[in-house]
Amino acid sequence: MNNIEFDKQHIWHPYTSSISPLPCYEVIGANGAELTFASGQHVVDGMSSWWASIHGYNHPRLNAAAHAQIDAFSHVMFGGLTHQPAVDLCKNLLSIAPAGLNRVFLADSGSVSIEVAIKMAIQYWACQGRQEKAKLLTPRGGYHGDTFAAMSVCDPVNGMHGLFRKTLIEHYFAPAPQIGFDSTWHPDEIAPMRDILEQHHHQIAALILEPIVQGAGGMRMYHPEYLKQCRLLCDEFDVLLICDEIATGFGRTGELFACDHADISPDILCLGKALTGGYLTMAATLCSEQVALGVCEGEPGVFMHGPTFMGNPLACAIANASIDVLLNSTWQNGNWQANIKRIETKLKQGLMPLAALESVADVRCLGAIGVVELKQAVNVADIQHDFISQGAWIRPFGKLVYVMPPFICSNQQIECLSQAIRYALTKHA
Ligand SMILES: *Cc1c(COP(=O)(O)O)cnc(C)c1O
Repeated sequence: MNNIEFDKQHIWHPYTSSISPLPCYEVIGANGAELTFASGQHVVDGMSSWWASIHGYNHPRLNAAAHAQIDAFSHVMFGGLTHQPAVDLCKNLLSIAPAGLNRVFLADSGSVSIEVAIKMAIQYWACQGRQEKAKLLTPRGGYHGDTFAAMSVCDPVNGMHGLFRKTLIEHYFAPAPQIGFDSTWHPDEIAPMRDILEQHHHQIAALILEPIVQGAGGMRMYHPEYLKQCRLLCDEFDVLLICDEIATGFGRTGELFACDHADISPDILCLGKALTGGYLTMAATLCSEQVALGVCEGEPGVFMHGPTFMGNPLACAIANASIDVLLNSTWQNGNWQANIKRIETKLKQGLMPLAALESVADVRCLGAIGVVELKQAVNVADIQHDFISQGAWIRPFGKLVYVMPPFICSNQQIECLSQAIRYALTKHA
């Protein structure tokens, strides 16, 4: 049995059927912004392995950090032990994160960092004698991960809440933000959120959202004023604000953190995906001093969470190298921010013309994210075949064809991705 055949019969892949799985392509190498398939073909990676490999593959600095740490020690438990890579990483994160965050919980995946954030928020209010504040509030259209608490705050339709109705906790949902990043703000946009808070703030521990870009729930880019207003409402109604920057953190939207577009700080911040430059699984939940102290007042006096691989030194060492490369290397256009601007300009040039196609509902680009929203859902297997024929690795979902390329992509590689999308969409138009 060859690899593809074994895979098809025995291995689960993300969000696919065990009965009729989507085609799978075997990777035998990855370098810079390119993947190499077993067929020998090279494709430009338009996905950064789901927002993660911002510096591309096989990066010499990240490789060196990994090798050095393996030769020292790969892992030790974090209960009662600490080490230089973790201390450096937490220093790094606190120095670049939005102001006011002061404590770091190192988690092992994005979903787990969301679980941790939710537990912190609920325990915080319980320790203040407010046990009734145990629900969450979130806009529709969100995505926060696949574990149960995370799933309970994902968009109820995309997240298939119906299927798990008897198990999932029900929370409060506000309408998804409608006003785009560059559109004109109107105060009506925030009114439903205020209504829910006015009526139910006694039951609500935290408002959780993805700042500025709603990722896997619909690739929406919304107005920074919406985020500002959410911050103000949280202050007014004594509700914590949890920002999920697992997808948007580390420069993706053109600011280091999407919160920076609105100049706000959350009470709790989740980071993941690009944290280790796409090398290893690791995430972090940061919180304010007020939350950290509040959580541990009274009984039980501790925060009850501690993954086996918490603070994994190898992941920490690579994350430190990744942050250093992002902030301190010379990019093609000067600093990292000028480089993201370059990618944004290039994506706009390549994708905006597609807005004229009959099959296209909307085209939007922000930072190193380009989205073409179609009127109908695509056939993933067919369209992916077309992308690959043009040398591009792009994985659409539903009506959304989108790219978030590694930051090291050349203009030519960005053009290859845009061209592949133009080719496939005009072919199927
Ligand atoms: C991917 C993602 C998660 C979940 O992270 P995992 O590492 O896959 O568990 C949570 N929130 C957002 C915004 C994400 O994009």
